[in-house]
Amino acid sequence: MRFEIIIFLVPIVILAFSSCERKKEEIKTKNQLISYLDTLEQKYENACIETGLANWNLYSGSGKENLDYAKKKFSEIFLNKNNQKLIEEWRARSSSLADDTLSRRLELWWRCFLGGQIYTDSIIAIKENNLQKKIANFKFKYANEPITLAEINNKLRKEKNSKIRYKLWNVVSQLSAEAKEDLVELVKLRNEKAKSLGFYNFYSLSLYLQQIDEEWLIKTLNSLEEQTNRKFQEFIDASKKKHRVKVIYPWDFEAMIYNWTTISDSYFPKDSIFYILDKFYNNIGFKTDSLPIKKLIRAIPFGGLNIGIKIPDDSRFILNPIDGIRFYQVAFHEYGHALQIVHTNIKYPILKGYEWIPGASCGAYSEGVAELQTQFVTDPEWLKKYTGASQDEIDKYIATKNFGEIYAMRKTLKDFFFEYEMYKDPDQDLDLLEKTMYKKYLLVEIPNNTPHRFAASIWYTMYPCYYQNYILSEMIASQLYEVILNKFGDSRIENPEVSKWIISSLYANGEMEEWYIRIKNASGKSLETGAYLRKLNVIK
Ligand SMILES: [Zn+2]
Repeated sequence: MRFEIIIFLVPIVILAFSSCERKKEEIKTKNQLISYLDTLEQKYENACIETGLANWNLYSGSGKENLDYAKKKFSEIFLNKNNQKLIEEWRARSSSLADDTLSRRLELWWRCFLGGQIYTDSIIAIKENNLQKKIANFKFKYANEPITLAEINNKLRKEKNSKIRYKLWNVVSQLSAEAKEDLVELVKLRNEKAKSLGFYNFYSLSLYLQQIDEEWLIKTLNSLEEQTNRKFQEFIDASKKKHRVKVIYPWDFEAMIYNWTTISDSYFPKDSIFYILDKFYNNIGFKTDSLPIKKLIRAIPFGGLNIGIKIPDDSRFILNPIDGIRFYQVAFHEYGHALQIVHTNIKYPILKGYEWIPGASCGAYSEGVAELQTQFVTDPEWLKKYTGASQDEIDKYIATKNFGEIYAMRKTLKDFFFEYEMYKDPDQDLDLLEKTMYKKYLLVEIPNNTPHRFAASIWYTMYPCYYQNYILSEMIASQLYEVILNKFGDSRIENPEVSKWIISSLYANGEMEEWYIRIKNASGKSLETGAYLRKLNVIK
């Protein structure tokens, strides 16, 4: 599932494997190859549907989940060495086939066999599951009383005393101390596997599978850091003044941002969300009445999640009932995932962009085109038309929201670079690395005796090498939203042509072309930082 913000846990997946090695099939002609791929992709799509349904049942509480069975179906495909060999051989001859679609299918199959090796590696899976269980079952304590992560987060936002915030902030270190050794072992196992597949380390492999150029990525993220540094320092200085303190610590940020927020939660009633989604998307031309999208509100460990069960016939999403504008932003984001899924118009399952096997799609792109929909919610025109907020309230909100946005970006940079550096050298002093990252990206010092906290993050265990996607997705969303602004101007929130443009340039062709080519064709330029920095009010 494509999801937003993990609040605490995801359930445990126990794996079972069986590899069925068949006799190598004789494939001599192009037609035989096509028919072989058709059969393989049917199997693949069935496994995708089973995995989607198992996840849906798990989170919606609507049926029995059978994640083991679903994973076994993938193992049958990806642990089959004959399949892999055949794909490798034909991919090498791909250009002689004179068939773009067929070449593309072979290319994605080849990547999926790399990604599938990790997805179905039983030693890594056992390690992941054990660590996930440790994280999931951990009982945090605060002042000798049990406390949950959600409670800590809520308290951190509202607690006025910095010393108490420090104690609250340190609670996760209890888990980090228990999990650190296991995390480091897991990182080393993943690195070993990546090296055995011919990559420098696991991070490089992960980026390769999503076709993200590593050198470009690091250059881009460094440039975002440099360009937002001054503005972020200004926010920190302004907050110091406002709260009359000399030093800001990491445990102060949430409370500071909470104090800057200005738009009232009451403009975003939860019980109107589906009505608003239908009304708005109908206005910009989507046939909301007939789309095969199922919507649900339910408490889940994420802000929201969408699952493309069968592309393009069945997409379902769940929203966690959180408060305020954030709820609408998550709703538009998840609906954006669903819109992409039901408007994908490609016949071959491997090119539909199923999310389960690394290599089959680019997470940054899916997140980006989903996040594009979220841009409407913070568009002053949209706020004016779809909420009861006054012009004055909207202006104030627009003027102050950058602090939270820049903080969120720099916090993600910290999380990204920590993980990126950890994979480069898991034996280095990681406690020191964490402190260095706080200093560099959040411009705050952590006192020496403060314990580490990184290993408490479920992300490093269950969703490794994912943080860059949340920054790239913001860049993608900003760049594409500028296109909508330029193309449709004042009519952007009511012109039915908007949906046509979105569908034809961003959704319809699935994975037929690389994600960066889709961006370039849609926006007339390669993905760059400009639009995002303009949105953050860092450049004009
Ligand atoms: Zn998402």
